[in-house]
Formats: sequence, structure tokens, C-alpha cells
Amino acid sequence: MAAYVQVDLSAFPSDGSAMNWPSGDRYTLGSERDEIRWLDKISYAKNWDRAPGDPLITYTELPHGYRVIAQTRDNTNNRARDYLLYGHPNGHFDLAHKASVHFKHIWLGNLANCTCTRCNVRAPAVRKMPFWQLRL
Ligand SMILES: [Zn+2]
Repeated sequence: MAAYVQVDLSAFPSDGSAMNWPSGDRYTLGSERDEIRWLDKISYAKNWDRAPGDPLITYTELPHGYRVIAQTRDNTNNRARDYLLYGHPNGHFDLAHKASVHFKHIWLGNLANCTCTRCNVRAPAVRKMPFWQLRL
């Protein structure tokens, strides 16, 4: 039978900061229930590739500086909202499995070697000029 481990991510050094949260009319802080939903999804993503014998992880708290923030969509006139995870210096997480990679490295105290999509933002591609605009 698998062991169960609860992990309070707020107990570990975090790179998150409220400085990285968005501001403006479109944004509102998520409720505690919104955070629980994200924590459940991130825990599920963490457990997805566990090896036999590995414990089942339940994250109980977000790391310091991380919050779920609801934002209205600007391309519709309905009341749809997106619930995104903010706090990372390089931008928000939209999917739990991406945040799961980062949070695993917070837990392990190994942020310097994090492999998540936000820690490994590529430099913008150099836009190549079409050949018919080249000055020869
Ligand atoms: Zn990362």
C-alpha cells in the first residue's frame, strides 16, 4: 500500500513574490477553494509519474508568493474567467503539470536546476526578414 505524504510548500524557500502578480480591473485574487483546486491538480500531476513504492504526495499549501488569480477574458463579452497561478518571476502558470515541475524543485530546494517551462524561457526568436525585403 502506498504511503501518503502531505507537503506544505510554504515551508520551503520560494522564488515567488506578490511583485509578480498582475494588477488591473481584469484580475481578482482567487478564493481558498480555487487554491485547493490548483493544489489538487498539481498534486495529481506530481503523482502521475511516480515509481512503485513512491509515496502519494498531497500539496497542502502553495509556496510563498504564489496565488491563484482569476482573470476575465478580454476577447469575449461573457463572464468566463481563467484561473492562473501567479508568482513566478517569469510569468504565470496556466497548467498544473507545468507548475508541478517547478514546485517539485521548490520542495527539493533545487530551484537553480529547475527544468520547468517558466525557468527555461527561451530568448525571443530573431525575426528573419523575407528575402524580397532584403537590401542587396
Ligand atoms: Zn521552474
